[in-house]
Amino acid sequence: MAWQPTPEEDERFLNAAIEQAQQSWDEGGIPIGAVLVSYGKILGAGHNCRVQTGSPILHGETSAIQNAGRLRASTYRESVLYTTLSPCIMCTGTVLLYEIPRIVIGENKTFSMAEDLLRERGVALDVRQDPRCIALMERMIREKPQLWSEDIGVEENEL
Ligand SMILES: [Zn+2]
Repeated sequence: MAWQPTPEEDERFLNAAIEQAQQSWDEGGIPIGAVLVSYGKILGAGHNCRVQTGSPILHGETSAIQNAGRLRASTYRESVLYTTLSPCIMCTGTVLLYEIPRIVIGENKTFSMAEDLLRERGVALDVRQDPRCIALMERMIREKPQLWSEDIGVEENEL
């Protein structure tokens, strides 16, 4: 990959993902956000849309990829996905399909589902354990457990 973000860029783009998560929470939604970046430019930013538009498949990551629109295969392969939470299996599938080579993950303490699969397939993961991301998730799980269980396809008593 020709483009490698600097540590400052990683920080800036994770912050952009966190802004998306905070915006979603402020709208009454699930506080998970993401941005897709290539060569220092945000191609798409998004957040979980379950509450806002009723979408069961627009998670933070898929929403950012959706909002980036149609891209060439070579662009995905030279991009980095920044997400506030460790990706679920659905978002992992999208990353693997388009061969996005690296993900910066805000945290994986409150949820981790598919990191082994991503690593097995050669995706570089950079987990930050950012306290802002953890706080957003912990608050939702405490205040709206039904919403969270719905988002990851489990019943509330299975959390
Ligand atoms: Zn997901």
